Amino acid sequence: MDGLTLALSKGRILEETLPLLAAAGIRPLEDPSASRKLILDTDTPGLRLVVVRAADVPTYVQYGAADLGVAGKDVLMEHGGEGLYAPLDLKLARCRLMVAGPPGVDLERGRLRVATKYPRCTAAYFAGRGVQAEIIKLYGSMELAPLVGLADVIVDLVDTGATLAANGLAPLAPIAEISSRLIVNKASMKMKHARVRDLIERLAKAVS
Ligand code: AMP
Repeated sequence: MDGLTLALSKGRILEETLPLLAAAGIRPLEDPSASRKLILDTDTPGLRLVVVRAADVPTYVQYGAADLGVAGKDVLMEHGGEGLYAPLDLKLARCRLMVAGPPGVDLERGRLRVATKYPRCTAAYFAGRGVQAEIIKLYGSMELAPLVGLADVIVDLVDTGATLAANGLAPLAPIAEISSRLIVNKASMKMKHARVRDLIERLAKAVS
């Protein structure tokens, strides 16, 4: 197959990536947020979009089911990045991955219970600081965990800080600056080099 498949996820990534694609001259033939279709053709011949869960984007690209994808740095770090290149920072959906919790929690005290949907990043962060942490994997609403005694602190994305503040929590330590990245399957980068490079260049122009 000569065509290219680009994996996107619904929500903020889709909303912010569509204008960028449009600036690069690429428009889906149907509105992806309204359509229930998972595969969408575009007005660019040979380029289609697939819509998957955000955390699944690197997996589709790693295995070559999609040649390219748009994924948050958080999702990429958690995935590990095997089989992928991340050649372009799209500078979208910017936020920070942070440790947060009730104000004043001592992060060095050890035996911390940490609730997160990012167990790999969280384990690496605390191990790197020599702090023993018990990680509790959650799939959403991490902010609730310290309020009901499930965890001492959380590791989550923070943008304005309003969600933390609304729940009486505070940012405690930054882990990483996050933004959306274009990712590319390593084999596609070789086998479909001209088409992939052309798309990267068009998107890079649209970003700047
Ligand atoms: P905020 O209240 O503006 O700090 O936003 C925090 C909430 O939005 C948390 O529930 C985060 O998980 C989520 N969030 C913030 N930034 C992003 C992002 N770039 N992508 C996805 N979720 C985000």
